[in-house]
Amino acid sequence: MNQQELEKVKNKALEEHIPIIMEDTLEIMGNILKKKNPKKILEIGTAVGYSAMCFTNFLSPEGTIDTIEREEERVKEARENIKKVGVENKIRILEGDAVEILPTLQERYDVVFIDAAKGKYPYFLQEALRLIQPEGIIFADNILYKGYVMSDYNKHKQRTAVRNLREYIQEVSENPNLETEILEVGDGLAISRVKTKKV
Ligand code: SAH
Ligand code: MG
Repeated sequence: MNQQELEKVKNKALEEHIPIIMEDTLEIMGNILKKKNPKKILEIGTAVGYSAMCFTNFLSPEGTIDTIEREEERVKEARENIKKVGVENKIRILEGDAVEILPTLQERYDVVFIDAAKGKYPYFLQEALRLIQPEGIIFADNILYKGYVMSDYNKHKQRTAVRNLREYIQEVSENPNLETEILEVGDGLAISRVKTKKV
């Protein structure tokens, strides 16, 4: 992979305020992924491809990533970026709304990374649980949403997002088939390890 091009993608995204994965979050995920060496990763929320390209470093040699993005412009930019960085054989972008695409997926994934519309996290979780392999890991970024999720914050604009993020946390915590940690890195990261597989 072309590290210099990847750095350019990162800097451009930061300049344009595209919410790419934060460094400390990436470091923690990287440490876990390095041990796991996943064959298949599913990402919900590609943006310009930055996190997906970073994750390719941790795939098993024949591993690949499927990543979903609904904004046409971002898909276009992500495709260009992935080519420039030289990882186009490892990343497949699925263009469209994840709410429509997820139910059509039939493969099984070792890792699912949820990083898209916060109001949809409980739905994304249901689909992630359907698609995850036994012993797989489901990550959810931005789970603490600037701290709103753990405060009594109740501004109208973010209310639905906060309610759904809290619901996500409750569901992963109560699910007896999951072992969950909520970390205060970046904007909050939920890590849920699937204990066994229920079909
Ligand atoms: N994972 C990226 C950042 C993703 S930002 C990185 O760290 O580099 C979130 C992205 O999710 C945005 O580009 C947004 O357009 C997309 N998104 C939000 N809701 C979505 C949905 N329902 N379906 C598909 N993409 C969605
Ligand atoms: Mg994020």
